[in-house]
Amino acid sequence: MRVIDSIDELKTTVRLLKNEGKTIGLIPTMGYLHEGHISLVKASRHNNDITIMSIFVNPAQFGPNEDFEKYPRDVAGDSRKADEAGVDILFIPSVNEMYPDSYSTYIEVLGITDRLCGKSRQGHFKGVCTVVLKLFNIVEPDRAYFGQKDAQQAAVIKKMVKDLNSTVWITVCPIVRESDGLAMSSRNVYLNKEERKAALVLSKSLMEAVDLTANGEADCERLRDRLISIIGGEKLADIDYVEILDAETLEFKEILKGRMLVAVAVRFGKTRLIDNVVVEVN
Ligand code: AMP
Repeated sequence: MRVIDSIDELKTTVRLLKNEGKTIGLIPTMGYLHEGHISLVKASRHNNDITIMSIFVNPAQFGPNEDFEKYPRDVAGDSRKADEAGVDILFIPSVNEMYPDSYSTYIEVLGITDRLCGKSRQGHFKGVCTVVLKLFNIVEPDRAYFGQKDAQQAAVIKKMVKDLNSTVWITVCPIVRESDGLAMSSRNVYLNKEERKAALVLSKSLMEAVDLTANGEADCERLRDRLISIIGGEKLADIDYVEILDAETLEFKEILKGRMLVAVAVRFGKTRLIDNVVVEVN
């Protein structure tokens, strides 16, 4: 595996590979790798000759009171894991490489960013879209891989790609969970023992949503109330949002129909976790 920290060097390397006719898969990450990230590597390796992973804790997507400074970082461990997983090129640029002092261009997707995490984390998706488009322009991948764990992020990126006529093919991979159901996340490391246990209420509530909708529940408010009461029953859980929306358009619906996204964001102590499930309502 080659590790590159310079944009120019990565562009030159990619150009040579493309001249050889190689297809390229890109996996943007913020590092502190876990099996969720590795599942994206597997998907990319399956469909591309070359897999490039970026690790960049992107300051532009963190709010002023968020965890940018203390976001977990482990370049040595990540390099080993990426290499073992079969990543060909690991791109680890500095903040200055991505955003030099003169930097002044940002990408905003309107509409679907005004709800869920976009509402709780003002400016978050502006930062995400900017860095992802920069990575697309640097690598010009054939395909890029994102996790369903960040369902709104995946929807926003797809919208950006469509609106800006990008040719990058977006693949969204399923959520990878711990054996007890907790969705894998780099932020899980923040949880103490009690919070870690309490956080299981997220996957439990989502499983209940699956059961209820399978048994005919199609009323959005009733389902939402039920989930709020399950999560609210856990005393360490502080709900940011519980929402049920159209899985493709992220539009709110009173009556559930078709593929619906059940998305939750909940704080346990200082740690904000997100999780979701897609249910099919007939
Ligand atoms: P992050 O490093 O948290 O920004 O995540 C990088 C990519 O990995 C994003 O596309 C995430 O959606 C994806 N990802 C993170 N956690 C998981 C998970 N548990 N399962 C699947 N994909 C994930």
